[in-house]
Amino acid sequence: MPGELIDGKKIADEVRAELTSRIASLAARGVVPGLAAIIVGEDPGSKLYVKMKGKASEEMGLAHWTVELPETVSEARLLGEVARLNSDPKVHGILVQQPLPPQIRVDRAVAAVDPRKDVDCFHPTNVGLVLIGRPRFAPATPAGVVELLLRSGHDPGGKDVVIAGRSNIVGKPLAALLMQKAKGANATVTVVHSGTRDLSAHTRRAEILVAAMGSPRFIKADMVRDGVVVIDVGINRIADSTAKGGYRTVGDVDFDAVRAKAKAISPVPGGVGPMTIAMLLTNTVRAAELLGEA
Ligand code: NAD
Repeated sequence: MPGELIDGKKIADEVRAELTSRIASLAARGVVPGLAAIIVGEDPGSKLYVKMKGKASEEMGLAHWTVELPETVSEARLLGEVARLNSDPKVHGILVQQPLPPQIRVDRAVAAVDPRKDVDCFHPTNVGLVLIGRPRFAPATPAGVVELLLRSGHDPGGKDVVIAGRSNIVGKPLAALLMQKAKGANATVTVVHSGTRDLSAHTRRAEILVAAMGSPRFIKADMVRDGVVVIDVGINRIADSTAKGGYRTVGDVDFDAVRAKAKAISPVPGGVGPMTIAMLLTNTVRAAELLGEA
């Protein structure tokens, strides 16, 4: 029997439905949560993500704006736009879509966002709050992974969780969330990465395996144990002449073969992607609530 499918679209819809009463309470006080995205250049993936975030905001009755800057934009100009959004009271959440071109220092861009509006949870202050277990915002993709696990009945408490990938966006903050002494966390976390010797020896131990490497179908069936729960964060475009547009999207997991051994697995697309957006909307609503209290 192939493993059960962890339906990210369905679970994201649940998370989004739970936001409606909070959005209504804000509306009763005359507040419409607003999300502003800055996008630099023409990267098709980034454009698609920003478009999806805007569409989701609209569906939920949130305000949203997209600031489009040219690939050649200076760091000073970008920081100027961030400062403008920081001081705009209609804007509760700001995200600077990555990747950024080489003339922009990512750490400068990330640190320029007002931490109270940092709905991506990339600002060093907010990253620190996550690490000490007192998050202001939950980092969107990692929090989406945790929600997928909990709401599909796979509480990570006490489990051996292996995360493949140590980026500041996914691997590291996910490790920080899962290792907390808290309900829905409390896992024994191993992070494997490009410097790991014998990666399979670790992944085969995992009761829960999270793949966040950006390497198409890297995790094969012989790298997992029977009954594993797999969350696939990867989003990779691979050439496919039979697909519309000449490419299709796959995860970091060799889906069919791994599913055959797994207890449960999240697909790509339709797994972590919709959850990331749902958590971003949650953070924007939270930002509006917190700014209203300040
Ligand atoms: P990244 O490139 O910043 O980090 C990848 C990490 O994987 C690195 O730490 C690297 O050490 C590790 N890695 C890569 N290849 C490896 C190998 N062969 N062996 C061991 N370790 C290896 O990427 P990221 O930003 O963390 O994103 C990872 C993937 O997740 C990408 O496919 C990205 O598109 C996707 N992603 C999806 C969402 C979503 O909402 N679903 C959000 C963010 C990222």
